[in-house]
Amino acid sequence: MGGRIVRDMRVPLLAFLVLFLIRSLAGAVEKPFNFTETPGKLPKEVVPTEYAIRIVPNMDNFTFAGSETVKLNVRSPVYQLVLNALELRIEAASVDGKELPLSEIKTDTEEELLTLTLPSGLAAGDHALMLRFTGKINQQGQGLFYMRYQEHGSGARKVMLGTQFEATDARRFFPCWDEPAFRARFQLTVVVPENWLAVSNMPIESEQKIAGGKEVRFAPTPLMSSYLNVFVAGELDFIESQVGPTQVRVIATKGKAELGRYALKVSAEILKYYNDYFGVPYPLPKLDQIAIPGGFGGAMENWGGITYYESVLLFDPKNSSAQTKQDICEVIAHEMAHMWFGDLVTMAWWDNLWLNEGFASWMGSKCTAHLNPQWEVWLARDLPRDPTRRSGIAKEAAMESDARSTTHPIHQPVATEAEANSAFDDITYKKGQSFLRMLESFLGEDVFRDGIRRYIAAHKYSNTTTADLWNALSDASSKSVREIAAGWTEQPGFPVVNVKRETDGKVRLTQERFTVNFKNAPPLLWQIPLTYSLVGEAAATLLMTDKTATLEKVPADRALKLNVNGAGNYRVQYDEPSWKLLLKTLPKLGVEDRVNLMSDAWALVQAGRAPVSLYFGLVETLPASTDLAEREQIINVLDFMNGLWLDSSEHEKFQRYAQGLLRPTFEALGWASKPDEPANAERLRASLISALGHLDDPEVLASCREHFEKYVADPPSLAPDLRPAVLAVVGRYADEKTWNKLHELGLKTTSIEDKQNYYNALAGASDPKLVKKTLAIALTDELPTSRAIFLVSRVARDSGRPDIAWEFAKTNMKALLTKVDAAGANRYAPSLFAFFSDDSRADELRAYAKKNLSQATAPEVAKVIDEIQFRAEFKKRLAIQIDARIEKKNH
Ligand SMILES: [Zn+2]
Repeated sequence: MGGRIVRDMRVPLLAFLVLFLIRSLAGAVEKPFNFTETPGKLPKEVVPTEYAIRIVPNMDNFTFAGSETVKLNVRSPVYQLVLNALELRIEAASVDGKELPLSEIKTDTEEELLTLTLPSGLAAGDHALMLRFTGKINQQGQGLFYMRYQEHGSGARKVMLGTQFEATDARRFFPCWDEPAFRARFQLTVVVPENWLAVSNMPIESEQKIAGGKEVRFAPTPLMSSYLNVFVAGELDFIESQVGPTQVRVIATKGKAELGRYALKVSAEILKYYNDYFGVPYPLPKLDQIAIPGGFGGAMENWGGITYYESVLLFDPKNSSAQTKQDICEVIAHEMAHMWFGDLVTMAWWDNLWLNEGFASWMGSKCTAHLNPQWEVWLARDLPRDPTRRSGIAKEAAMESDARSTTHPIHQPVATEAEANSAFDDITYKKGQSFLRMLESFLGEDVFRDGIRRYIAAHKYSNTTTADLWNALSDASSKSVREIAAGWTEQPGFPVVNVKRETDGKVRLTQERFTVNFKNAPPLLWQIPLTYSLVGEAAATLLMTDKTATLEKVPADRALKLNVNGAGNYRVQYDEPSWKLLLKTLPKLGVEDRVNLMSDAWALVQAGRAPVSLYFGLVETLPASTDLAEREQIINVLDFMNGLWLDSSEHEKFQRYAQGLLRPTFEALGWASKPDEPANAERLRASLISALGHLDDPEVLASCREHFEKYVADPPSLAPDLRPAVLAVVGRYADEKTWNKLHELGLKTTSIEDKQNYYNALAGASDPKLVKKTLAIALTDELPTSRAIFLVSRVARDSGRPDIAWEFAKTNMKALLTKVDAAGANRYAPSLFAFFSDDSRADELRAYAKKNLSQATAPEVAKVIDEIQFRAEFKKRLAIQIDARIEKKNH
């Protein structure tokens, strides 16, 4: 908030100091968890302790009937009970056996509240509330939802049920105190068809046949937050294993459970790792990993019953790619970290969502890297399922968002349900992850783990604020973690450290805020846990607490690298002598340091702090290498520039230059894999095929078509790793006949992964007639709802025709929005503008939002407008600079 107020002023030094003091104090304001002081809408006088809930779904009309008894602890006398309910019809209510007149039952749809007025009041002490209600079963992942799918093998059309409650949708399933600090025990009973498997957080306690199916009662949960409840049911199969006292299962639709072998194996490995890391063993008797074929797009850490979109859990050794395998491992590791960080210990309120998500992202990556060192996890390119989110190394994606005027602190106030749902963004997840990684490397791995163990032990079955985590880490490290952390969690943005060589071996370091497309940003100061090394020597650390610092005794002829292994969440800008020395020592640097230099150089170009020649000069100097992370960094940049210039005169010239940069690596690798090649070679091959194909490389295009013909006749002829790339290139240049073939293949397969590959290929088709054909699919039920809506975003990104995609979306917005889940609702419409680089589109979005969108979408609208303006400006700036560079290279 401070950022906006002063953004258009020059800030004199005094104001800067005051601002800094205020910010430091703001950091001190947050206190350890205290129930009565926790934000939220619900009064804290009444605390539910136990829920017994019974739900009877009606699959003919997609409604359900429910009843519940809630044991209440009333802390001081009240005349009203206020709890959450949404899209539920309350049919009856009684308190301590006394029926309330219907006139005393009020539902407020706007505030999502249910208020029961008690004529004679309720004394302090224990009471029981009984409610009867009905609700609806949605088709998108909000509350209870249904999914239609084709059964594996038979191809029969089936339907099943699932739930998605985070952030604030448990209240669509049963009336409840739906705020994370109201922990309670939940016992669920459901009625389902007899041939269905029903799954919830806890094991089944009893099961009995009744008219119309069977009644299944689950064991009560431990004390937990309402959003962690889960219910999934359908014609399901499972495979299982045992890890100590814990039963681990992978559950999928009939015929697919065997594809859960890999997930079952890594779940067991991860469980052992976390049992040790957290120092408190996994507390529930079972852990289910549930694959669901639609409804929502990601994964959800319901305690004991984690739900996954099928393609991030199931792995087919014959047909799945190595990328899929790595995604599965990372997503499982992330969700399982939540079993402790999120479920056993839960953030008190949504303003601290980063505690859950930043931590699980960091822990998930750390665990995945530990189990699979060959994957280079910290450098891996993150390809979000939502195509409008930034791809690239997780840390880089967060820093790109965080450099803009539209960023926010990790710790941000949340007042409404819409704000809670908007908090699930790159800053919360990826900046949180990146900051924790930097903090861990500064405190040391063992000290950090010791702090986490103290934290979990002290707060299990309870809630916390960020202050509780800092206290535990301070106790373990004897360092003032809160002071270091405040700058990173309580204020927006991050710093760039300028490196300047002076005389007598002195190197002067100066920090300032790093921004992109953000003039007159308020200056801020950070405590930076710096790392540095003379290339070839061991790393040293320095906590930079002031605006400047000096390194001594740095020989004038030795290269100095800051941010060792790129583990820190800051940029570095070197002066010319330092940069030249680094360029000379590139072959001696490890891949993490090289990728870090490339990422920083590209960011400096974006920020207008350096000409584009800084980046391409570095790329052209790099030693020939087939390292995946390094080449993918280049591919990401070229891909971005290619998209920027699709309709301009520079396009062809740029494409030839870009092909020239990538071709040598592709020629060294060739099409066919070799037995002795490095672990990541096949994935790099796929990335290069896709990148060169999109840069209109005629040879690659011809080979892709050839491979596609063979693949259609004989699928095993094309390696699973190469399929997405080959299909995408073929799709991009498809004529009607090819489009129809891809569509036919997509319709036929029951593998979600294959299906996704085919529809992604269709989304890339650039012929306007075919672009329209692809878009029309989004309105059918060919794809699960969460994928159908992303199809439009994909077309906007991959076809080169965001204009046609937007026209389509505008016309069909109402139908599309019925397929969007809670987390996506605020950003869907604005996100479709993210691929325009023409200022007039910013005006169009502004006008559209004013007329059609709710206030809750305002932050997303602002982000996308900023993105369009940045692209428009950057495009002009790059055109001039790259022209000069290409001319120079051609001479
Ligand atoms: Zn998470």
